[in-house]
Amino acid sequence: MRKEYLSCVHTHTEFCDGKSTMEQMLLAALEMHYESLGFSPHSPLPYENDWAMKKEDLPAYFAELARLKRLYGRRIDLLCGIEWDEETPDLPEGLDYVIGSVHSFRKGDIHFSVDYSKDLLAHVVKEGYDGDFLALCADYFELLVAHGAKKQVDILGHFDLFFKYNKDGCFLDENDPRYLSLACKAADELILARPDLYFEINVGGMPRAGRPYPYPAPPVLAHLSKRGARFVLTGDCHSDRQLRMGYAVLESLPQEVIKRLFLLRKEGFAPFY
Ligand SMILES: [Zn+2]
Ligand SMILES: [Zn+2]
Repeated sequence: MRKEYLSCVHTHTEFCDGKSTMEQMLLAALEMHYESLGFSPHSPLPYENDWAMKKEDLPAYFAELARLKRLYGRRIDLLCGIEWDEETPDLPEGLDYVIGSVHSFRKGDIHFSVDYSKDLLAHVVKEGYDGDFLALCADYFELLVAHGAKKQVDILGHFDLFFKYNKDGCFLDENDPRYLSLACKAADELILARPDLYFEINVGGMPRAGRPYPYPAPPVLAHLSKRGARFVLTGDCHSDRQLRMGYAVLESLPQEVIKRLFLLRKEGFAPFY
């Protein structure tokens, strides 16, 4: 048995599309003796949506974190983060860390999120990409590499989120050599641009979408590891009950990956082992 990974820095609360309050999330983390907990609301977006934080709620977010730190800050490291969407032009000041993610982009007339619904994704692949899912992956990776290259990003979010609805390879065989060369090229470009970047091992799709393994999928995780990438394990939790779901995956991660696994604490990133 490996030791437990007692941290999550990718959590969503009522400040965006999460179901729990920040305090509920924190109490769940305390119950599980977490060493650190980071909040990462979806950054405000310049268009109507039902999942990102509203810009006017930023002061309330910072104030609630300050209140929780006063109450519980001696028992757990509380970190003020954000999941910085590629479509959010600028970052607020005063954050402890930033997760850089791509969720949505435009193809022709269609503006879509790769993780919104299976039907929407299928529609975009058919109408926007003429059935070519690989071309969608290429567009996503282009944005991901450019976003991850920004120096403000500390952690790269869900490397291959477009696989969320890829049950049984219904959109693409995840081991297709053409896909793997595309994904490995994106990984190499990111490492080259940002040797100090941490990559998420994000288990959020396991409880929520029935993914059999975290993002990124095993061959790409192995490639990243071979290239010396460093990782953090996250739950991408949208409720306090999800906080621990999926972490059992730690048992099956290759030792090479475990050796490159870190935990974000108040003082910064610390090796897991
Ligand atoms: Zn995300
Ligand atoms: Zn998230």
